[in-house]
Amino acid sequence: MSKIFLQCRECKKEYDPTFKYICDECFGPLDVHYNFPPITKDTFTNREQTYWRYFEMLPIIDKSNIVSINAGMTPLVRAEKLGKKIGLNNLYIKNDSVNPTFSFKDRPAGVAISKAKEFGLSSVGCASTGNLASATAAHAAKADFPCYIFAPSDIEHAKIAQALSYGANYIAVDGTYDDANRIAAQIGDSKGVGIVNINMRSYYVEGSKTLAYEVAEQLDWKVPDQLIVPTGSGAMLNAICKGFEELETVSLIDKVSKMHMNCAQPHGCAPIVNAFKNNSDDVIPVENPDTVAKSLAIGDPGDGRYVLKRLKQYNGIAQESNNKEILDAILLLARTEGIFTEPAGGVSVAVLKKMVEDGKIDKDETTVCYVTGNGLKATESIMEVLSRPQVMQADVAKISAVVK
Ligand SMILES: *Cc1c(COP(=O)(O)O)cnc(C)c1O
Ligand SMILES: [Zn+2]
Repeated sequence: MSKIFLQCRECKKEYDPTFKYICDECFGPLDVHYNFPPITKDTFTNREQTYWRYFEMLPIIDKSNIVSINAGMTPLVRAEKLGKKIGLNNLYIKNDSVNPTFSFKDRPAGVAISKAKEFGLSSVGCASTGNLASATAAHAAKADFPCYIFAPSDIEHAKIAQALSYGANYIAVDGTYDDANRIAAQIGDSKGVGIVNINMRSYYVEGSKTLAYEVAEQLDWKVPDQLIVPTGSGAMLNAICKGFEELETVSLIDKVSKMHMNCAQPHGCAPIVNAFKNNSDDVIPVENPDTVAKSLAIGDPGDGRYVLKRLKQYNGIAQESNNKEILDAILLLARTEGIFTEPAGGVSVAVLKKMVEDGKIDKDETTVCYVTGNGLKATESIMEVLSRPQVMQADVAKISAVVK
């Protein structure tokens, strides 16, 4: 029996696991399904401290095709101080800002590029809001693949510098993320480039689901009551749900149906929140996203409709936070837990705080807030709410006056 097969999310038609991502019959997205071997808690003990510890549950057939830069197994931080500040007794931060390229995107990019190697492709690329560029470029460097990045031209400086440093060909598109995405899709198909989040998307999202595996393992194989996930395209939120469901399938956890999955978006690009609040199943694209959370500035979220389904399935909500709330939340997290996140992480912390204030989370519920990117990638916008230190003369007497 083969390890995996593809299945249409809509009409359920099955396919061999090839370089394919859309159903021939109904154009629905294809998901990877598994014929899991017997798995116990012991299967994963004493494994490497990366997400490749879950190899049996990832879509790579031959281990020699793994392209790893040692991402994953990031800390699940017991956030007592932040919890106390906002009124929660069992709060955890999944700190994915400390991955090798400093965002969670190392998970999906690593799996997609490993699969591109397994398929024998000769080049890879991505459409990016910033973080995926570096994750793809770093894994491509490790695998010796030429790499093409398609990104809107207005993303943060640090993210461009980082992707260029890994040696990627960087195409800065004068337009939105959706423009960059459309171009990447066409070039991927016409030139046979493995675009990790487009024509490799079925495999790509398999990396993100390890955000569920790790949290479950770090909680000693328990399912949290509440999860808050920062959402752009919605791929990660869906993948996290899939991850918990698969752990239930292999009997490592139970009661997945009891968890609450919540979606956090920035005001200025919150098409899923808008649909949720209007009780609509249709996500109306935001034409011109305008938010400090650039990594979430996806006006037309590919998995938006499926996120709404997940929120229904898992009794969750969608909520937004504005630029000021986002930046305040970045400082709150930094000053309570010593974790420095970029605005996307600020979005989830700001929404978490709002949910507690609105009575959506009980103070004793086990709550996991996903922090997915690093503050060092977005210092320009964070600096806007900080005051630049005054330069002082190198004189002990004068400086000692400011030390209380
Ligand atoms: C891409 C990204 C997200 C959103 O992920 P989606 O799968 O597009 O919803 C969240 N946080 C950070 C830091 C990101 O880079
Ligand atoms: Zn179909």
